[in-house]
Amino acid sequence: MLDELTCTCERCDQSLEDDRLMLSMRTDGGTRRAYECRCGAVTITVVGDEGVDDRSTIR
Ligand SMILES: [Zn+2]
Repeated sequence: MLDELTCTCERCDQSLEDDRLMLSMRTDGGTRRAYECRCGAVTITVVGDEGVDDRSTIR
C-alpha cells in the first residue's frame, strides 16, 4: 500500500497533514490536492484513481 494520505513539502520536507490542505480537485487523471506548508511553499499531489477507495476499480 502506498501512503497516499502522507506527503511532504517540496521545499522543507516537513510532512503535510490534512489540516494543511488548501484545495482538492477531481480530474480525469485522479484527485489533485494542494497543500500549503508552514514554510509557505505549496505542494501539489495527485492521487490516482487506483488509490481512491470510495469505489472499487476493476481492470
Ligand atoms: Zn515547507
